[in-house]
Amino acid sequence: EAGPQAPPASAHDPMIRVHDATEHNLRHVDLAVPRDRVVAFTGVSGSGKSSLAFATIYAEAQRRYLESVAPYARRLIDQAGAPRVDSITGLPPAVALRQHHGGGSARSSVGTVSRVSNVLRMLYSRAGTYPDGAETVDSDWFSPNTAVGACPTCHGLGRRYTVAEDRLVGDDHLSIREGAVAAWPGAWQGKNYRDILGELGIDVDAPFHTLPAERRHWLLTTEEQPVVTVHPVREAHRITRPYQGTYMSPRSWVLHTYATTKSASLRAKAASFLSEEPCPTCQGRRLNPFALSVTVAGVDISRAAALPLVDLADLLRRARVHPDTAALSPARQQAAEALIGNLEEHLRTLTELGLGYLSTDRATTTLSGGEFQRLHLATQLGSGLFGVLYVLDEPSAGLHPADTELLLNALRRLRAAGNSVFVVEHNPEVIADADWLVDLGPGAGRHGGRVLYSGPSGGPSGGLSSGHPGGPAQGLAEIAESATARYLFGRAPDVRPETVREAASWLTLYEVTRHNLDRVTARFPLGTLTAVTGVSGSGKSTLVGQVLAATVREHLGTSGEADERTDGAEDESATLDDDRIIAIPKADGLDAVHRLVQVDQKPIGRTPRSNLATYTGLFDAVRKLFAAQPLAKERRYTASRFSFNLPDGRCPNCQGEGEVSVELLFLPTESAPCPVCSGARYNPETLEVLVEGKSIADVLALSVEDAIVFFGGLTSGLPVVERILRLLDDIGLGYLTLGQSATTLSGGEAQRIKLVSELHRARRGHTLYLLDEPTSGLHPADADLLLARLQELVDQGNTVVVVEHDLRVVAAADWLIDLGPGAGTAGGRIVAEGTPAEVSGGDAGRTARFLARYVS
Ligand code: ADP
Ligand code: ADP
Ligand code: ZN
Ligand code: ZN
Repeated sequence: EAGPQAPPASAHDPMIRVHDATEHNLRHVDLAVPRDRVVAFTGVSGSGKSSLAFATIYAEAQRRYLESVAPYARRLIDQAGAPRVDSITGLPPAVALRQHHGGGSARSSVGTVSRVSNVLRMLYSRAGTYPDGAETVDSDWFSPNTAVGACPTCHGLGRRYTVAEDRLVGDDHLSIREGAVAAWPGAWQGKNYRDILGELGIDVDAPFHTLPAERRHWLLTTEEQPVVTVHPVREAHRITRPYQGTYMSPRSWVLHTYATTKSASLRAKAASFLSEEPCPTCQGRRLNPFALSVTVAGVDISRAAALPLVDLADLLRRARVHPDTAALSPARQQAAEALIGNLEEHLRTLTELGLGYLSTDRATTTLSGGEFQRLHLATQLGSGLFGVLYVLDEPSAGLHPADTELLLNALRRLRAAGNSVFVVEHNPEVIADADWLVDLGPGAGRHGGRVLYSGPSGGPSGGLSSGHPGGPAQGLAEIAESATARYLFGRAPDVRPETVREAASWLTLYEVTRHNLDRVTARFPLGTLTAVTGVSGSGKSTLVGQVLAATVREHLGTSGEADERTDGAEDESATLDDDRIIAIPKADGLDAVHRLVQVDQKPIGRTPRSNLATYTGLFDAVRKLFAAQPLAKERRYTASRFSFNLPDGRCPNCQGEGEVSVELLFLPTESAPCPVCSGARYNPETLEVLVEGKSIADVLALSVEDAIVFFGGLTSGLPVVERILRLLDDIGLGYLTLGQSATTLSGGEAQRIKLVSELHRARRGHTLYLLDEPTSGLHPADADLLLARLQELVDQGNTVVVVEHDLRVVAAADWLIDLGPGAGTAGGRIVAEGTPAEVSGGDAGRTARFLARYVS
């Protein structure tokens, strides 16, 4: 079972044994955990759970797998780096299920990932009802992603993009030089186009409306790309030579830029000139007309794919007894029976994991991290693999307590099929249900990295869940330094405020209608901490993250201080997806809010050049400090020399990324430390400038905690840097290094970093903070730190609204809004609202029952 490099293990050893693991902060960890069991890894954020479960155990399994399938890739794998561990024995092949954060391709959908789409297409192909006399076609005809299946007009996009000529012009009383044309490129290119038009005899200094209409039309929309010799006007000090310039009309420029640019802001600018409409041929259904004429139980495949999975299951049940099905030949009826059976199996698994409200055609890019991971989990459950090690990253993220049981069932099913299941988890129910517990700690970063407890947890009937007789995990209870033990065994601090705050005023949204919300009137108490609860799919993000946010943003105006940060992250809002257009409901009470800050778990940047220091802004001050050193002054290095975004100071080989990607034929791309700078990111000359003996790379390698000491010791203080560092430490991120690249940060870390970069700015007026599951990925001890910050914000007169499942946090809120009762069409209503005591005392909604324990 193990790869060629594995030391021989006793054939009957039921344990996976790790010897001397030192990846990241792990301190010579030795560990033995049972195979074919559910093992939970616990510990505060940064203690080393992922370093052990993912970066060591999973990575080693992956390395052996790669070596066995592609021995030729050996050299490349060596370069990509094997995990730092002496040996691992008894290791099965492994599959990692992680939460994505906004990744995935645009064409990937719930149906493609779960394979429901494939089977559905076979059903329509083989057992659909065709128009009279038509021949059956194969299943490719039912896919918009194939040449035969796609609608011929829109090539399967379902939409048509057009550029409206009048939108290209901003103010036609201005001349071209003065900026009459809004869709005009900037900088050199803009001047180039102007010069070309000049050569073509078009007056770029005349008011635009005075140009002849057909000239205006031509220069705005032509598809020609005329090439002209340009004689630039001689500028005072510069000599400019004639050159060949190519003109591109604003219309072509917009279409070209929208289709090809990698810059989020350019793409957004281009998008602002595009109109989008459903394709006139397929009405947005993306398929060719013939495929759309084929039905099952009277429904075409595009409508079937738009149904929530629970409703699709209903449709299939109806199809079984539908007259159309009865009219098929016996062979086709048999095919229908088999395919429907197969689909029902898939749908059951998806529904059991709480995903029944999703539709097959839902793009995976719109799913939350938790939903995405559970979708993949469901797919694995259907795969029938056994003898595999599954490594999961907080599978309970985004799940309401009422749905946790579904997840536990899924994990138990994987185990029953003969697999090993490792979960990195914080949810007490999931931890209590595991067979075995590995607790890391005691702290984060270099204060962690040790195994505090590894042993049986007591399992489903064991000692962890209250009410059960003391099981073996009492061993953990006795470990005084374990933060996990404090929370599991009822020694957690009480984080509820002494008095519940009263609303300063109310913000009301009337008749909100979107997704599954149908004329919902919601009121939010300002000046309080409000928690919005409800099962997954009940409508929380739609109400808070979309409608409330859009309404406040609209009220503040686009010039308002909305939360706008791109930092090189691909900005998904730059696409023209229908779903981005949010109808603003009638609302009142908005005037009391002066500022909106929306903090989510999306990554803070997708390039390794983006990191904690650059994102929070503290790096600017640090670079200035380096530029002020005598050696830097002598060499005329400015602050930009110390940026790895600019060529001067950075390592030319990796261009400041510190790593290079290693392409493995047929295999996922791996990255390896840059062989030239060994990950330092800078060229040697830049690294010669020192502050108190440290180069800029050394400073980036400091943890937040160590940086506090380092900067605190400098004679000339850096107050901004110190303030940011303290905020990071206070929120539980003291273990992160300043230069840790954004691509390696977890969603929970990214969200707290975003919050800190908001907190350190001077604030004025009343800010409305919207947070989406801020405690996801956090140990309860870290959740408490975060909660304390949120309470502070409210104490300073702001409003905080959180979408949240963690009942400790919910119980500490001033006001609750519980959505439901169910998911999708079974949800979307406000089923309970009031203080936590009022809601838990009532019997409405699914949250009350679970909350009672935390409120009393
Ligand atoms: P947990 O999963 O318990 O939150 P991690 O295993 O992610 O903790 O982190 C443990 C330590 O390893 C932390 O100090 C963290 O900063 C460090 N670390 C995590 N990932 C990386 C990485 N890719 N490169 C360098 N250090 C890392
Ligand atoms: P929650 O935040 O409570 O998990 P959501 O607001 O995400 O719930 O979802 C509520 C309903 O809206 C669900 O039925 C979901 O499938 C639907 N929905 C959410 N986002 C989209 C979208 N981008 N496109 C279509 N339907 C969506
Ligand atoms: Zn079409
Ligand atoms: Zn390099």
